[in-house]
Amino acid sequence: VTPDLRRLRERLAEISDLRRTLLLLSWEQRVTMPPGGTEARANALATLGRTEHERFVDAEIGHLLERLRPYEESLEYDSDDASLIRVVRRDWEKARREPSELRAERLRAGSLAHGVWVEARATNDFARFLPALERNFDIRKRYAACFEWEDSPYTPLLDDFEPFMTTTDVAAVFDVLRPALAEIVRNAPRIDASFLDVPFAHDRQRVFAERLASTVGLDEDAWRLDTSAHPFCTSFSRRDVRMTTRFMDTGLRALWSTLHESGHALYAHGVAPSLERTPLAGSPSLGLNESQSRTWENLVGRSRPFWSHWYEPLQRTFPDELGDVGFETFMSAVNCVQPTALRGRADETTYSLHIILRFDLERRVLEETLEPRDLPQAWNEGMQELLGVEVPDDAQGVLQDTHWASCQIGYFPTYALGNVISLQIWSVVREAIPDLDDQLEAGELLELSGWLRDGLYSLGRKLTPSETIERLTGSPAIDPQPFLAYLRAKAAALA
Ligand code: ZN
Repeated sequence: VTPDLRRLRERLAEISDLRRTLLLLSWEQRVTMPPGGTEARANALATLGRTEHERFVDAEIGHLLERLRPYEESLEYDSDDASLIRVVRRDWEKARREPSELRAERLRAGSLAHGVWVEARATNDFARFLPALERNFDIRKRYAACFEWEDSPYTPLLDDFEPFMTTTDVAAVFDVLRPALAEIVRNAPRIDASFLDVPFAHDRQRVFAERLASTVGLDEDAWRLDTSAHPFCTSFSRRDVRMTTRFMDTGLRALWSTLHESGHALYAHGVAPSLERTPLAGSPSLGLNESQSRTWENLVGRSRPFWSHWYEPLQRTFPDELGDVGFETFMSAVNCVQPTALRGRADETTYSLHIILRFDLERRVLEETLEPRDLPQAWNEGMQELLGVEVPDDAQGVLQDTHWASCQIGYFPTYALGNVISLQIWSVVREAIPDLDDQLEAGELLELSGWLRDGLYSLGRKLTPSETIERLTGSPAIDPQPFLAYLRAKAAALA
């Protein structure tokens, strides 16, 4: 190891510690902090965020990266060192464009607005949230102005979550999805799933959810499950992965939400140990990361072989609610297509239509063809147009998500891209593990998670999103067709 590389790694390890500490503060805010802590937490996040940013954009890191160019070129493209230098160079050049003060302002505003949003949603009061929402959009517009973009000021925002993809690229994928999904929704039979629309004891749900999570391939001492207003997963190291879920008044959604977060957890847990404490410990894009949460939530967690193993234990856990419900009835209910106002309750088909709406709206606000104050009306019209759903109130409409409150504008498309990518990777998995269904029927998930860890999770952020997809599937393109074929087959099986 050259002295320059050692120095670079030392600097990056410290920055990584600061970033994980920022994540810890956010996790704690969303899981245990009393509402009274909002102001102090916003200040702490802003201070730590500014410090982290100032350290990262320091000129010394640029000099080290420049001096390491010949070394980088002497190495294999996907070696740890070459990847570190290459990926950090792009991160550094991007981060240099944003003033540290703006970074701090975003963290502070996002933290404060989250507190306002929780109250506004609880009281169905959009007007109360509007000033914070306007400020967040304004901060993101100022961020976009730090970059040159060709198609839309939305592209620099998108790049934070889905590197190298432009607004035009996303719109092209969504233009294929929109009519195809609408057609599947129109033709799918309506299923009576009302037996799930009753209360299920939260403590028994939690035990069952933890039981499922304990089978996916996470080391026992490396994860925990908590509750939060909006389920999420974060990690402070590959051996300290935090998932949250949420228990609703009715239904068993917490089980699938836990499987979903387990997919994120497996990704964080599966990153190669050699990438720990570097900016490569993560995933190349949120779309790829989401492809794995969708894999575990839906491709595994709604499949017939999976439930042929788990349905009896579930019936034994909830004998009053499910004792008389047959396996086929249960399978139809958890795979049905049913438009709803809430993204968090959406099925696999309608889900991406919720995302397309959010993408359209946030993009229009960035492009200044829509004002934040007009979002509720545009939201309700879009829900009617895309899903034929009447939005009952803003709490179940424009206020339902945390993302705009947390200043994560540009994040939404990654969910639908994740759906699409999950099927591209799943086709390869199926070929690699021919008896996968038998394994799922036996409740055996370790070969699957091991394959995904070795083939995908362990790479971390070494390659770009399309290089990563190409390494797995042989083609770099994001292709919606396998996803659509999967949904059509599922809808046909319901009929
Ligand atoms: Zn997710």
